[in-house]
Amino acid sequence: MSRIKKLPLAGKIFIALVLAIVVGLIMQPWADFATDYIKPFGTIFLNLIKFIVGPIVLFSIMSGVVSLRDIGKVGKIGGITVVYYFFTTALATTIGLGVANLFKGIFPAIATSNLSYEAPEKASFMSVVVDIFPSNFLAPIVNANMLQVIVMALLIGFAVILIGEEKAEPAIQFIELANSVFMKAMEMILNLSPIGVFCLLCPVIASNGAMIIGSLAKVLLCAYLCYFLHAVVVYSGAVATFGSMNPMKFFKGMLPAIMFAFSSASSVGTLPLNMECTKKLGASREVRSFVLPLGATINMDGTAIYQGVCAIFIASCYGINLTISQMVTIVLTATLASVGTAGVPGAGMIMLAMVLTSVGLPVDGIALVAGVDRIFDMGRTTLNITGDASATIIVSNLLNKNKTLAMENKDEQIHKEVLG
Ligand code: ASP
Repeated sequence: MSRIKKLPLAGKIFIALVLAIVVGLIMQPWADFATDYIKPFGTIFLNLIKFIVGPIVLFSIMSGVVSLRDIGKVGKIGGITVVYYFFTTALATTIGLGVANLFKGIFPAIATSNLSYEAPEKASFMSVVVDIFPSNFLAPIVNANMLQVIVMALLIGFAVILIGEEKAEPAIQFIELANSVFMKAMEMILNLSPIGVFCLLCPVIASNGAMIIGSLAKVLLCAYLCYFLHAVVVYSGAVATFGSMNPMKFFKGMLPAIMFAFSSASSVGTLPLNMECTKKLGASREVRSFVLPLGATINMDGTAIYQGVCAIFIASCYGINLTISQMVTIVLTATLASVGTAGVPGAGMIMLAMVLTSVGLPVDGIALVAGVDRIFDMGRTTLNITGDASATIIVSNLLNKNKTLAMENKDEQIHKEVLG
């Protein structure tokens, strides 16, 4: 018992993950029991995470901004991050479309009658854009609208910098203090994650276990293949070239967050653990506290892949052949849709409606994949958070290099001055 207590959190999460799979498979005949009595404890854990995540994003981005003390620097970090996020997401959708096109021949023909799926009203692109800006001071936190929380954090963070260093000192201290307090609270909640992971995953396996072998196995396999490809090719390459880090070291360090994301299917929920992992991997605090919350909200490569794969799958189920220009439209809309996807379970499926509508595919087709969405979601969330972490390592490394270069230049100048 004391051995288990001494185990690092990652080890405990791993044990919980394996146990959840084993117990979930055994409990398949009693799936209802697992859903009624085990899942609620997972929900309690997820609720605690949701509760803490609003203040964490708010104060961590604000503290990131004020610790940079320079709007230009925030712009620079933000610029590199957003370009990386958009580029990798567009690449992800392209990989999704490419591999799904290869799989198209073996996708099962599914009867397309009797399908019904109620498309959510808010799936248009402009409404996603308008929704980014809060119209009320408290609403972003109350509604847990993370894009709005980011806008709020940036606005207030910039204002603190702009009122001048002397005046801003108490505000900076308050932001730092609030950040530490919420981080501590988060750490306390995180200690419960092995229990949370077990209670979330076990009912999923109990009720979906057999379905994996069913007719949707091929499209699931296709999506997982793309997730894997994207991680191995894009993230490994990016981390090794721009982050100066061995990809093996990166993935190993990310394991606790990866396992957590896989079980919880929530990027936002994984944010605290992602902070821990990237800290251990050596990413600087100012970068972590800015790049990760931003990524958990806008960077969803796994979701983009899923949307690309599902678009092809649904089209082929309906016997529709997509043209090249329709594929380009899918790359664009899936990239934007993934930005508007909230980092919570199931959100990517709702945004799939926007992608399908953009190329005139029947939104009802979502019903085809809805039953196994959770299984898609576990993989796409894992990829989503790994992408955020890769950006953190890269931006941190690039800034460090810049700093070293600036110091070397300074040394050289001093050397010249002294020696004449
Ligand atoms: N569950 C995903 C996440 O939190 C979002 C999605 O549904 O695609 O990253």
